Amino acid sequence: MTLRSTTNRSKSGFYIEVGCPGCGGRLTIESSFFVLTCEHCGSVLRLTMPDTPVVYVVRAKVTRREVRFGIDRYLKSNKLPLTGSDLEFKHIYYPYWKIDAVLLKVRNDIIRVTYRQGEDGQRETSNERRRTDINLTPYLTTVGAGGQFEGIPDTIGMRVDYLNVLPYSRTNTQDGFDAMPVARPWSEAWAEVVARVADIGEVAIADFGMNRTELFNPVASLVYFPYVIVESYAGGDFNRWVVDGVTCRVLAHVDEVSPLDYGEKEAAADLEFGELDVDFHRCPNCAEDLPAEQSYVYICRNCHQMIVHELFARDISQIALVSAQYGQDDLLFPFWSLKMSAADSEKFQHLFGGMYRSDRLVIPAFKVGNFEAMYRLSKRLSAALPQFDLQPIDTFDRRCLPVGLSMSEALMLVDVVICRAELDRNPEGLTQHLKATTEEVSLFFAPFHKENYFYVDSALGSVTFEKSFVS
Ligand SMILES: [Zn+2]
Ligand SMILES: [Zn+2]
Repeated sequence: MTLRSTTNRSKSGFYIEVGCPGCGGRLTIESSFFVLTCEHCGSVLRLTMPDTPVVYVVRAKVTRREVRFGIDRYLKSNKLPLTGSDLEFKHIYYPYWKIDAVLLKVRNDIIRVTYRQGEDGQRETSNERRRTDINLTPYLTTVGAGGQFEGIPDTIGMRVDYLNVLPYSRTNTQDGFDAMPVARPWSEAWAEVVARVADIGEVAIADFGMNRTELFNPVASLVYFPYVIVESYAGGDFNRWVVDGVTCRVLAHVDEVSPLDYGEKEAAADLEFGELDVDFHRCPNCAEDLPAEQSYVYICRNCHQMIVHELFARDISQIALVSAQYGQDDLLFPFWSLKMSAADSEKFQHLFGGMYRSDRLVIPAFKVGNFEAMYRLSKRLSAALPQFDLQPIDTFDRRCLPVGLSMSEALMLVDVVICRAELDRNPEGLTQHLKATTEEVSLFFAPFHKENYFYVDSALGSVTFEKSFVS
């Protein structure tokens, strides 16, 4: 079914090449996926990230001949004499911090709506309407992590969108290439990215209330990108060219002698990096094979251990199923149930708990097309939750859909959902950032069946959402 195969689809297109532990074959995996089936031997594999940044390397694709050719082409187009025979080549890998995060944008605009009236459609009236737009999008950027180096760009830029990377290791780096030390700590790179995002926010001035531009859930990794540095002293003139090791483009031409600054070696000493691991997708307790579908949560069908595939995840206090009479064709959709602190539930329960005064907020544990659709479903389920009869389960029914939205994403969405709900009550727009503390996390599955263009919950028959919401 399409829902399963497209869960958690990523658009970043950052590809990692790894080796299969079963057959040794080379595999390419999109960075946001962590379960894959080996196309050579059929083994189901899992990619595990360490809790320290992973280091990747992009291999150079250009030969000395091609680099020289590239420089000559550059010189020719700038009407300069071509290169001589004394070229010196230096091959380097320059480090970049790669930052993956989620960007939240809340925008308050006043829009002008024009209506045509009358039989002839000639009479026009117009009025102004307040509109609040909430958007959550993946955010990917790179920031230079090495020392100052004239001609080396401070970001890999758009190229990162279709980069093929390998885990950094002795065998994956090329002969003759030197990796530059990391001179800029992560904290500094992150501060720069936060400042960049704040700049975006400042450009958009709210027409009412307050706008919000914020980054959530940052994940850091390090990418070594190849450059070829070519120097020449022909005829007593110094020239240095910095050439992109993937595209062969000349990025900089320096004709004043300046020493190369390779960055401070000491600075890199206290940084810790981890290696990603590719392993068979099995239960860590009893080695039973786990389903080939990507999910953040599994229950081993043999020993019934819960397996949460997420770094820094909190404990899931319970996995439950909504009891109801339902058919074999029903789908069991997963939902995160997040218990708010007593103080917060006092403050926010009017937004979700409805007449049942629930202290829990429900967030769909699968990807829903857009934020507004997710918000409506979250609100309906939060209101319905106190009426559900939840029974703990220790095995997944075949009708259970995979958990396609991680716990950390759900925890982040709590604040955004509260902010959105407050807007319903307060159309003047937000005047403060609302934050809530989540005390406990559990997961439940609720049965839904198809009715025309909708999924309808089979327990109460009252919660519905459009089939097209599920991406
Ligand atoms: Zn294989
Ligand atoms: Zn097991």
